[in-house]
Amino acid sequence: MDFQFTEEQERFRHEVRSFLDKELPSNWVDYIGTAFDDTVAPIKDGEQIFRDMALKLGQKGWLSLFWPKEYGGQSCSYVDFLIYLEEIASRGSPGYNAVGSKMLAPTLFKYGTEEQKEKHLKPIARGEELLCEAFTEPDAGSDIASLQTKAVRDNNDYIITGQKTWSTFAKYSDWCCMLARTDPELKRHRGISFFLVDLSTPGVTVNPIIDIQGEPDFCEIFFEDARVPKENLIGGENEGWKVVQTMLSYERIAIGPVAVVRSMIDRMVRYIKDNPERQWQNAGQALAQLKVEAEVGRLICYRLAWLHDNGMATAQDAAMVRLYGTELFQRAASAGMELLGLYSQLGKEDSRAPLQGWFRHFYLSSIGVTIAAGTSEILKNVIAGIGLKLPRE
Ligand SMILES: Cc1cc2nc3c(=O)[nH]c(=O)nc-3n(C[C@H](O)[C@H](O)[C@H](O)COP(=O)(O)OP(=O)(O)OC[C@H]3O[C@@H](n4cnc5c(N)ncnc54)[C@H](O)[C@@H]3O)c2cc1C
Repeated sequence: MDFQFTEEQERFRHEVRSFLDKELPSNWVDYIGTAFDDTVAPIKDGEQIFRDMALKLGQKGWLSLFWPKEYGGQSCSYVDFLIYLEEIASRGSPGYNAVGSKMLAPTLFKYGTEEQKEKHLKPIARGEELLCEAFTEPDAGSDIASLQTKAVRDNNDYIITGQKTWSTFAKYSDWCCMLARTDPELKRHRGISFFLVDLSTPGVTVNPIIDIQGEPDFCEIFFEDARVPKENLIGGENEGWKVVQTMLSYERIAIGPVAVVRSMIDRMVRYIKDNPERQWQNAGQALAQLKVEAEVGRLICYRLAWLHDNGMATAQDAAMVRLYGTELFQRAASAGMELLGLYSQLGKEDSRAPLQGWFRHFYLSSIGVTIAAGTSEILKNVIAGIGLKLPRE
């Protein structure tokens, strides 16, 4: 066993850090996932900041790190990729579109036609094409296969009708990945197809939903007789279930939540040292506990990347990493709020808010992290079913 990164990997981490120091806006406050936060820029400029940064990341080749060379990628290992993700997440950098780069691309390697690969992979790698996931419906969340959205074949097109919801980033995306029922006679997941839909298609409406932070990060998407060319069907008619399973299997290989927890600990430690006049009851106990858990979380993330590089990763491994990381994120955000005291509830717009409202931001967003990409209960079902081979309850 070797728990060290190679010299080349250390150099790469350093390169990513220096790049972010140079390229992030000077007033960047390292909020994760939201380029559209008006602390940094008015919301309309946030999209531009995201797109500009995406182009710069694309120029470095960092949006296609683990893709094989034949698809224009860098053929790096997944461990290298996680180093990059760890640095990006700990600065909350804009410009990285996980749905395109990390999830759709490997799905297209497997199921895309040559035309589909040609059309989407290069723009994704260059940071020119941004995508979102539109799988959840008002009555189909954990059980996506109960979806109601329909796609009916009409000559060379499909006519799509239905509604999706909670689609993160849809307002700023060019395309969405979505599922629709193409054969209502077939049982549940058998009659489903996977489509790529250009969000500027007539009949497609994207409505932002203001989230708990007051930001328009989520959207509902309406499809009203939207005409989508048959060339946008990925993996064949009624074959969407296996396509989406492949795509989602890449979603949970991540290090974001743990990277943020490590930043939380660093910030708390600095804040305590900068404010010695305050009484910091139990801070050492709480932070030491989090430090241990963050180290465990980081190790299982890199272990998962290593398993993936060696063709040994299972859905159970990915579920364990996601479950541990997101629940730790929740505990750490709560601990931060408690340590900082009542002022931690103030928002970033209030000059008295400690750490520019950083912990409040993460505390509010921590509620959703154990729901997105599979709720904690669903992740436990995966671990119990695949890992422990327990019968379904
Ligand atoms: C921050 C965030 C980002 C999101 N981004 C996207 C996105 O980009 N695209 C997208 O399509 N969707 C997105 N979603 C939606 C997300 O995928 C769903 O919210 C999630 O799958 C749960 O579905 P639901 O909300 O309908 O809850 P339900 O599935 O109705 O679940 C309700 C409760 O029942 C529990 N439950 C359900 N089934 C079982 C079971 N079999 N065993 C045990 N417990 C069960 C759940 O754990 C939960 O506690 C996002 C959600 C959040 C919070």
